[in-house]
Amino acid sequence: MPHPDDALPDPSFEHTRSLFQLPEGVVYLDGNSLGALPAAVPAAIADVVSRQWGESLIAGWNDHQWIKLPTVVGERIASLVGAAPGQLICCDSISVNLFKLLATALQLRPGRSVILSEVGNFPTDLYIAEGLQALLGGERCELRQVTAQELPDALTEDVAVLMLTEVNFRSGARHDMAALTQAAHRVGALALWDLAHSAGALDVQLDACKVDMAVGCGYKFLHGGPGAPAFLYLAQRHHDQVAQPLCGWLGHAAPFGFENSYRPAAGIHCYLSGTPSILGMKAMEAALDVFHTLSMRDVERRTASLTQSFISALTALPQSREFTVVTPAIAAQRGSQVSIRHPQAYAITQALIAQQIIPDFRAPDILRFGIAPLYTREEELQRAAQALAAILESGQYRQPRFQQRKEVT
Ligand SMILES: *Cc1c(COP(=O)(O)O)cnc(C)c1O
Repeated sequence: MPHPDDALPDPSFEHTRSLFQLPEGVVYLDGNSLGALPAAVPAAIADVVSRQWGESLIAGWNDHQWIKLPTVVGERIASLVGAAPGQLICCDSISVNLFKLLATALQLRPGRSVILSEVGNFPTDLYIAEGLQALLGGERCELRQVTAQELPDALTEDVAVLMLTEVNFRSGARHDMAALTQAAHRVGALALWDLAHSAGALDVQLDACKVDMAVGCGYKFLHGGPGAPAFLYLAQRHHDQVAQPLCGWLGHAAPFGFENSYRPAAGIHCYLSGTPSILGMKAMEAALDVFHTLSMRDVERRTASLTQSFISALTALPQSREFTVVTPAIAAQRGSQVSIRHPQAYAITQALIAQQIIPDFRAPDILRFGIAPLYTREEELQRAAQALAAILESGQYRQPRFQQRKEVT
């Protein structure tokens, strides 16, 4: 039986939008930083707290299958990023998962020490590699950063792993995952992709691109809520050869055998470390229902069409000479955000927020409009473009109240 929702395609995504709880009058263009709340989440959280925790107490681990959530939720994410079963789990943060996978990468490529990445990659990705370098010493682990243009030439025989974020958090530029993974493989290196700005917005194909490792974020386009657990992918072909250094008890072959020494669990499960956050995982599980009946090809098409129409609206503004659109004009080369550069980007962001239009600012001079394909409406983007025009025209962003920096931008 087809699901009733399958019957008609929904090109405007109005049905999908109705699955979210968005505040009246707000144009929310920051889903690339924190996804909006799926309407099913509050009841799911209330149920896990009051009924499952409150009534089942410790039995919840078995009776409500809490212990299986990293795998169960992981498989649901796997289906959104082109990963066959058994290769992806939901756990920890991107930072922690990167540490585990980078250590594995160095172990899989003995004799090679370089983690190759891109200048301007997301800071935590670079910091974690720096931390591993400090721990292991420069002989065994060296972070090398080059520009995107220099990447092909920088893939040399000493590179153990190419670590890239598919969509750049500042510019919104998207790498060619298939081509760069292939280039890494040609020199015998592994490819590790960060999907923080891809999962849930783009049609990612991890298996088809022959990616070795990936990490991704739960709280951006997957809508899992503030601090939602992240995910980790390791291709099946590596499973029998690997170990990881955060070998906690839940990644043990028999956690409740309470043995004195570590024995890794089979497959992807050895990447579990400690006890998962059940409240976070339950919110994530309920949130992922918004993808039910959607094909990621259609979601990516929606992303491309919304970002295109916003870029067109911005470049058509009489004030467009005052800023630069830094996001690529070609759809295949961008993710689900449109960024502009302006020396007063912070103050302009604050002036937009004062009008209930919510983008965000990324230092030093980038104003980002995150365009979540599942709930952003065409007319909201037009309203945002018009508001930007009015703010630039009037110069109201120069008011002192818009210049005060907050702790979280
Ligand atoms: C948001 C984001 C992260 C977040 O990392 P956490 O450790 O989960 O907080 C990491 N990498 C990129 C590219 C991001 O955009």
